[in-house]
Amino acid sequence: MKKIGILGGMSPESTVHYYEKIVHDFTARFGTHGYPEIIIYSVTFEPYIHWQESGQWDVMAEDMIKASQRLQAAGADFIVIATNTMHKLVNEVQAPINIPILSMLDVVAEAILAQGLHTVALLGTMYTMVDGFYVDGLEKHGLTVLVPDPADRQLVHDVIFGELIKGDVLPESKLHYVEIIEKLAAKGAEGVVLGCTEIPMLIQNGDVSIPIFDTTDIHAASALNYALKD
Ligand code: GLU
Repeated sequence: MKKIGILGGMSPESTVHYYEKIVHDFTARFGTHGYPEIIIYSVTFEPYIHWQESGQWDVMAEDMIKASQRLQAAGADFIVIATNTMHKLVNEVQAPINIPILSMLDVVAEAILAQGLHTVALLGTMYTMVDGFYVDGLEKHGLTVLVPDPADRQLVHDVIFGELIKGDVLPESKLHYVEIIEKLAAKGAEGVVLGCTEIPMLIQNGDVSIPIFDTTDIHAASALNYALKD
């Protein structure tokens, strides 16, 4: 089995779900505790929040390259970057390292197509919803992606940074998210991508009228499958 490297800490709330999901899925599938070895490199998130706000993506790329090199030096065979937003830098981070990064966008697109859906809503941080890398990354697989209108985008973003990354799950925020998703469903979304690894704390299957795509679960499950591949 390949050793899994998790580049985490953005935020810790979701990083722990990667670890749990990989281990629990293995035990559920094989009935043993023979799960793959996992190395977690958890960055300190505070500077990233400021770097994101001030648009210093080159600084973040440098820091993520260092973290990835440490995972590689510790013996990881491949890396999962445990945040949607930071996939904006996946190509920059991949270039100087010698082990593959398993892209969140590819595995999420595969999961959507496997359910026969073609038009999806996307909720995530402002960077994920508007910077193009995420929409393009899904649309290159033939999908159509709808994002919330500007006021709703701001609310979605503020709930992530003001509440979810601190572990706060508020019922009124859940209601706002449900409303926003239903508006996008009315515009033709057949499913919704929870394109931020913390949103599944707030929205689960059955909360809305369309299927959800939990990017944390999908990415973690793909990491286990990849670790098990020859
Ligand atoms: N974990 C979040 C995501 O999946 C947001 C935190 C970040 O800005 O990296 O996008």
